[in-house]
Amino acid sequence: MTPYQLLERLFPINRSITGQGVEQSLEIIKTLLPALRILKIPSGTQCFDWVVPEEWYARNAFLEDDSGERILDFKENNLHLVGYSTPIDTILPLEELQEHLYSLEELPDAIPYVTSYYKKRWGFCLSDRQRKALKPGNYHAVIDSSFKKGSLTYGELIIPGDKEQEVLLSTYICHPSLANDNLSGPVVLTFLAEWLSSLPSRKYTYRIVYTPETIGAISYLHKNLEQLKKRVIAGFIFTCLGDERTWSYLPSRNGNTLSDRVAKYVLNKFVPTYTTYSFLDRGSDERQYCSPGVDLPIASIMRSKYGTYPEYHTSLDNLGFVTDEGLNQSLELYKNVIGIIEKNATYKTTCLCEPQLGKRGLYPTISTKKTMGTTKDLMNLIAYADGSRDLLSIAEHIQVDFDICVENAERLREATLFNMCEVVNKI
Ligand code: ZN
Repeated sequence: MTPYQLLERLFPINRSITGQGVEQSLEIIKTLLPALRILKIPSGTQCFDWVVPEEWYARNAFLEDDSGERILDFKENNLHLVGYSTPIDTILPLEELQEHLYSLEELPDAIPYVTSYYKKRWGFCLSDRQRKALKPGNYHAVIDSSFKKGSLTYGELIIPGDKEQEVLLSTYICHPSLANDNLSGPVVLTFLAEWLSSLPSRKYTYRIVYTPETIGAISYLHKNLEQLKKRVIAGFIFTCLGDERTWSYLPSRNGNTLSDRVAKYVLNKFVPTYTTYSFLDRGSDERQYCSPGVDLPIASIMRSKYGTYPEYHTSLDNLGFVTDEGLNQSLELYKNVIGIIEKNATYKTTCLCEPQLGKRGLYPTISTKKTMGTTKDLMNLIAYADGSRDLLSIAEHIQVDFDICVENAERLREATLFNMCEVVNKI
């Protein structure tokens, strides 16, 4: 299965913050990640300042005019129904119906994505063109939905590494038929997790999390905060990874964590141009993971960022907006991110004052213009290896490719000039 095929498969499912859609989607993901655990938190559970809501079920929803002609049908496009709509079966005139309709004047052919999780209401979404064509008269509005005490469902996969320290990779799975925001997130994360699981070994443990946005991240933190604070050294929110228009970076609240440094390094190296946003532009679960007292090092690398592209949260963010190529490029970029986190390390030189490289075979016996560059790279690496800066930080400072610094550090370690420090520089 390709990332795009997985996205196609998940696309029609009616997901919300609770209910069958999330579980159904996780079951499909589990076919690719058999060790994925599908877990539940009961409705009514208090999680910090929030309470896990009741489960929402939507079986059917449609709108008919007085001749019985169906104007819109939830079964044709789940965006037609306002998420978490209360049940209704009523006949009402157009003027009254208008209060329950949502459309976008600026995008007359798009159906908007609207939810009302924390205030009980009902409504339909439709294109503005369709709305303007509605004739005066009576309409039959039917929403067959219900709420019940159940649970919030989320997925968790722990891929163990040599160390207990963890990299947290989190995505949300509460959006219905919307492709870039956000099915591209769970899709890229699933293939990344599959790749991580297939590696012969890993230095770090990887914690892969699929939760409904906001309430899912809050309840996940409520359950795991202590462990996450103790173990997580880096992490990312997987969202908006499917189109090919652009690249974006959204920092953590701190702005200079290991996650931020790796994200910037990889984008600078592999992407021709990208937009740097501020934490003030945040909008996803970094709000929770980076909140005061939680303070996890969580950043995001995205393609077109949520809220910035016209198709965002409308029916135009569909299977035509994302591409196989876009998803694969995002996957490759995140593999590079992981590669750097895995290879990054902090070293301390074992020698007081400048070591004599020549007697260790590390210095060219003949000094030419050509050999000067590489010797300088080695000497600069030694000059900053005081146990406080990691390789990534030194690589950026001395302006030498990270992979070359890794090779040089290994040579110096073999020559017993470098000791690896156990500390991980989260910042
Ligand atoms: Zn969204």
